[in-house]
Amino acid sequence: MALAFAEKPDRERNIDPGLAREIKSIIAIDDHAHPLPLGLEPAGDPAHPIQPYDCTLPVRMRPYNPEYIDAWADLWGYEHRDFEQPHLQKLMERKQAAVDEHGERHNVWTLEKLNIETCIAVAYGPSTSEPAPHFRWIAFSDWFLWPFGCEPKLNSPLLNVFAAQIKQKCGLFNKGELPQSLDGYIEKIIFPTLDLYAQQGSVGIKFQTPYYRPISFADVPKADAAALYAHGVREGSLPAGDHRALQDYIFRVLMLEAGRRDFVVQMHTGIGVKPAFDISGSNPLLMEPIFIAAQNTKFLLLHGGWPFNRETVSLLAHDNVYADFSCANIFQYSRSLSGQIRSALEWYPEKIMYGTDAYSDRSIGMLGGMPVKPNPLHGWEEKAWLMDRTGREALGLALTGMHGDGDISAARAEELADATMRGNAIKLYGL
Ligand SMILES: [Zn+2]
Repeated sequence: MALAFAEKPDRERNIDPGLAREIKSIIAIDDHAHPLPLGLEPAGDPAHPIQPYDCTLPVRMRPYNPEYIDAWADLWGYEHRDFEQPHLQKLMERKQAAVDEHGERHNVWTLEKLNIETCIAVAYGPSTSEPAPHFRWIAFSDWFLWPFGCEPKLNSPLLNVFAAQIKQKCGLFNKGELPQSLDGYIEKIIFPTLDLYAQQGSVGIKFQTPYYRPISFADVPKADAAALYAHGVREGSLPAGDHRALQDYIFRVLMLEAGRRDFVVQMHTGIGVKPAFDISGSNPLLMEPIFIAAQNTKFLLLHGGWPFNRETVSLLAHDNVYADFSCANIFQYSRSLSGQIRSALEWYPEKIMYGTDAYSDRSIGMLGGMPVKPNPLHGWEEKAWLMDRTGREALGLALTGMHGDGDISAARAEELADATMRGNAIKLYGL
């Protein structure tokens, strides 16, 4: 297969060499990622090392993106410049041998390789194989909004995961029963779970809401929400409109509680994996009333909200709103991403931060509502490698441009590099 880029492109020719060196040397804080706990990556099929999903992905997220060859070369010593099956079969063996050799430390090894000190990993609970201080965790929290389902039923595999969480928490805190009243649900399930998360060292709660509904949350009166909840418990589900109104109420409760516990709220904003995704419902402007209502809660707008990145920058005017460029560093090349980063740096440089959103291709199946396919050569490690390179390059381009245009001094460019790569995240999470 012909490659789409030169074998040894001078990738950094447009970045000031001093800045490029400086940015590479910064020990980063990855503010948001999905490192896969050991053993969860599906084993590959040697005859079919790459198994593409049947959905439209942005070009850089596709499995034959030639940049993977750079990642494989650096991570596992891949010596070819192609996707030939016999070469990839050997590569799969070589990666597995490296994973086995690293053992329990494999994910930490990956962070060290990428010069990342701490990674905020999204999970359903603390993981013993991903120890602090290399990994801290933040709790997947959409399940709180699904004490029961809606009619017509949503076609998403996420719902099974949410239902399992509800069941587990009811078992833990309420003798296996779903509380009969909204007050009961809030006091016996929501509060104790948030307390547990805090005890277990979670830095906050994370939502991927646009995968099942828009992120506009109405201010629903409590009496209405309580009546809807009681109806839902009786019937086992609610009509979609009522269900959404109940979610609006529960979400606001969660946002206020997050502020009391000093939890950061990570919010998926901007595009997601098709087909199960409604882009217009992911516009972060839709959340502005929540930012105002929950002023003591810190919100991190993941992915910089692209394509709503200008909206995202404007929202940073709220004291409690922050943004990162995780994932935007794989659906955009470094030049485009540098524009997104530069606009944030020009307006609110203390609010923008580096992150990878490194994920295994397994997530494409889970989020897109498709059966998971084994693609062990497209794991979170390769993604972290690509996203890290693009993120650091894009920051270098943005700062080179600002300095070259005479907007900032060289010293200020270095300060901004450090703040973006680690300082802003350290402050946000209190690390
Ligand atoms: Zn993510």
